[in-house]
Amino acid sequence: MQFDIVIVGGGIAGLACAVALRDSGLQVGVVEASSTLGGRACSWTDRHSGDDVDLGPHIILTEYRNMLAFLELLGTRDRIVWETGRLLRLREGQHVTDMRLHALSPPLHLMPSFATAERIGWADILSCRRVLCMAMRLTEAQVRRLDRKSALELLRHCGVTSHFIEWFWATACISVLNVPLERCSAGALMRVFAQLVGLKEYAIGFADVALAELFVSPAIRKLERAGSVIHLDARVVRMVAENGRFQYIALEGGERVAARICVAAVTPQSLMSMLPDGWRQMRPFMSVGGFEPSPYVSCYLWFDRKLGDERFWARIWNPADLNTDFYDLSNIRCGWSDRHGSVIASNIIYSHRADSLSDEQIVATTVREIQQALPAAERASVRHAVVNRIPMAIPCPTPGSERNRPATRTPIEGLLLAGDWTDTALPASMESAVHSGWAAAEAIFRWQGAPRSLVLPKRAPEGIAGWVHRHGAG
Ligand SMILES: Cc1cc2nc3c(=O)[nH]c(=O)nc-3n(C[C@H](O)[C@H](O)[C@H](O)COP(=O)(O)OP(=O)(O)OC[C@H]3O[C@@H](n4cnc5c(N)ncnc54)[C@H](O)[C@@H]3O)c2cc1C
Repeated sequence: MQFDIVIVGGGIAGLACAVALRDSGLQVGVVEASSTLGGRACSWTDRHSGDDVDLGPHIILTEYRNMLAFLELLGTRDRIVWETGRLLRLREGQHVTDMRLHALSPPLHLMPSFATAERIGWADILSCRRVLCMAMRLTEAQVRRLDRKSALELLRHCGVTSHFIEWFWATACISVLNVPLERCSAGALMRVFAQLVGLKEYAIGFADVALAELFVSPAIRKLERAGSVIHLDARVVRMVAENGRFQYIALEGGERVAARICVAAVTPQSLMSMLPDGWRQMRPFMSVGGFEPSPYVSCYLWFDRKLGDERFWARIWNPADLNTDFYDLSNIRCGWSDRHGSVIASNIIYSHRADSLSDEQIVATTVREIQQALPAAERASVRHAVVNRIPMAIPCPTPGSERNRPATRTPIEGLLLAGDWTDTALPASMESAVHSGWAAAEAIFRWQGAPRSLVLPKRAPEGIAGWVHRHGAG
């Protein structure tokens, strides 16, 4: 086989890149190891219930500018339902804290919500003033400097109370960056915090269809219409270059796929497995092996009755718990409220603590954790349960990892990298994946001599946070 452009990996990054190139006049091939597209955001039909479910529940943010533009292109942007009235609901035992964005200038807009939290006092909130100042003035250069230390070290150094570290920061870190504070890069956490405190309005949303319907099927239709080739069940085992220029990829079955440009849109672990020995000492490939996977366990429980009308809640982080975030799909998915009792999906993030548990134990504990939030669950029974163990949900942003995220271009001419873990200055997410795929497409348009701008930058901070950023950055 021979293409102008071969994209290895049909996850969001690879598909975003392929769709962006659809009218470039270039012959594009997507080579995917699995029998379906979508990667870590894939879906399938659950045989018992007949419902389409994702590998694990996913959220989308209004700040996913590139992901939303991708959905716009695919004609599915209106499939996102947005949480209104509150940003998110945090639960700790019976106590509920609704985080809202109040009509105050950022960063003050979050403070009234913190003040309503049980056991959180003004001393806790005010103990964040140094990290808040740092976040408002944050630049990418500073993210790199902070990347050397752990988030926990930074918070302690800045005088944040232990109580607030445990209550807010540990919860935010595991939910957004998928790693405990002591294992998280301070730079990565500050970057997320800067966005949280810097923007006036943002919201969490959920697809009201399975992710396959949200982006995989529409992307396939666009690619097939454009004459692109999708090659499934085709595992790449080696990339081959000659005189520093990419030549072809070798598939498990022995075939070769030649192309002028290859976009490797795979995880760091997969990339490692296809690198020739000679490249492993080269920057940026030498650090690829250092990305630690954050494993997840996602649980789906079909209850025999409705448990409430909430779409989503998160638990305050406690290492003794299993799950962090819960989604009642009967309140999210289009048409499910009529057909079903509640279908609750949840995530156990950085799930090493669940390794020794059987699926039955995971289900029993998850049911208990749901009962603590929704008393109606005590009278309900579980009709069907699915436990998905996911060894690599995202690469962990451990200290030092920000500096090791590779750029789109590599020292091998004709080889580009994409994927949520590449250097997008975003947490590994669907947004980062689309951003990376579009950055690779931009590089291809430049190489073609017809530059195009695709990647949308993050919004600049607003209000007081914006003023401080403009006057004190760095
Ligand atoms: C349970 C779960 C919950 C998540 N929740 C959220 C969320 O709420 N919000 C959010 O934004 N993100 C979330 N994520 C992360 C999000 O799914 C990923 O960031 C995103 O899907 C990554 O896309 P990607 O294209 O970079 O990589 P992948 O999806 O990993 O795509 C890589 C593709 O390459 C293929 N491949 C690998 N090796 C080879 C090979 N040798 N040859 C050919 N093909 C190969 C793989 O099969 C895969 O299809 C979650 C992930 C999981 C697992």
